[in-house]
Amino acid sequence: MTPLEDAQAFVLESCPPREPVTMPREQAGGLVLADVVVSTEIVPPFNNTAVDGYAVRSVDVATVPVELTVVGEIAAGAAPDGNVGPGETIRIMTGAPMPPGADAVVMVEYSERLGEDDAGNERVRLSESVAAGTAIRGAGDDVVVGEELFFEGTQITPAIEGVLASINAQEVRVYPRLKVAVLSTGDELITDGSPLAPGQIRESNKIMLAGMLAEAGCQVVDLGVVRDDEVELERVLRDAAVECDAIVSSGGVSMGDYDVVKAVLGRIADMTWMQMAIKPAKPFAFGKLDGVPVFGLPGNPVSSMVSFELMARPALRRMMGHTQLARTSVVAIVDHDLRRNADGKLHFMRVNGGFAEDGRYHVAPVNAQGSHQLAATASADAMAVVPDGDGINAGSEVAVLLLQS
Ligand code: AMP
Ligand code: MG
Repeated sequence: MTPLEDAQAFVLESCPPREPVTMPREQAGGLVLADVVVSTEIVPPFNNTAVDGYAVRSVDVATVPVELTVVGEIAAGAAPDGNVGPGETIRIMTGAPMPPGADAVVMVEYSERLGEDDAGNERVRLSESVAAGTAIRGAGDDVVVGEELFFEGTQITPAIEGVLASINAQEVRVYPRLKVAVLSTGDELITDGSPLAPGQIRESNKIMLAGMLAEAGCQVVDLGVVRDDEVELERVLRDAAVECDAIVSSGGVSMGDYDVVKAVLGRIADMTWMQMAIKPAKPFAFGKLDGVPVFGLPGNPVSSMVSFELMARPALRRMMGHTQLARTSVVAIVDHDLRRNADGKLHFMRVNGGFAEDGRYHVAPVNAQGSHQLAATASADAMAVVPDGDGINAGSEVAVLLLQS
């Protein structure tokens, strides 16, 4: 049996990051930066008010209340068209540029409109003193020209997309999104919702894997269910290797007579067939078909999921430029015994967990651990990594991998 770390190291080594590309910012959400982002603009672009209120000379409001003449009004988006002189103020809305002469803003909450005086000038009474600079957002106090904002290896989050727009970065250099083909194999699998004939089961892995690929940030190409037929499978795989950057298949990698994935890939691709020292997901295949990485996951649904998590997801993320490849790992307290047999394998037991009053993360196993029992596994939010031996007693610590991002 191959130790997990050896298998992971081999697969990761064979899946280097793809060549970066330059693309429009709008298409780059979720991708990983391949270069530092340096701003060529300042944000904000001009001094502006943080509040709705009155732009004043701070000396004029040193003693309050004070009455000032309102000589204008500036909305956000308007350019100032006048100065604030002694005894004067301009009504101003959040985001509007500061008019020359003013050095602070008094919030509208501290104002009272007095109407027009005899000469027809609008007057306001202000009841708060403000120091110079109050409620002004200075030009460039978020971003300055030449500032290095985000570095290679950073995933473009929605907030980063917002910043890229704010500095007018039209294009970004990123690792391209992977286009990944997914298929499942097996004569027993049906997908059309019709009644099950004897021996048939409903397909679940491809649906699950497509979702997991999407969650990992890949573009999914759904190749459907392929019959246990070598000619058909070879055609599908060869086409996928032309169209896609990676291929994920489920089923047919064990020792059975109808394990056609094994037969076909063994003939047309450069594959390594592994018996990994883990449970579930012992059989696993990895290799390249015309240079395209192929992940041959086992057919049992839970094995398929665990195999994807441990083998395919980290490698696909590496190809997309991620540097954090594994799921977050925490040390948890076991609330119920995690029993197992000594078999030379690392066991990935599906558990549910949460933080308790002691501030520690606590886990308990889901109620079924069979590799065909996807329903129980689907209710888990983590996998406990249980070393070889007879298990872990309640109250002891165990490392767990959190399955949600
Ligand atoms: P295999 O790896 O093809 O020998 O399949 C192992 C077990 O997983 C068998 O019981 C299959 O019926 C089942 N299985 C294989 N592929 C799928 C699938 N896509 N959805 C649900 N069960 C599957
Ligand atoms: Mg099969």
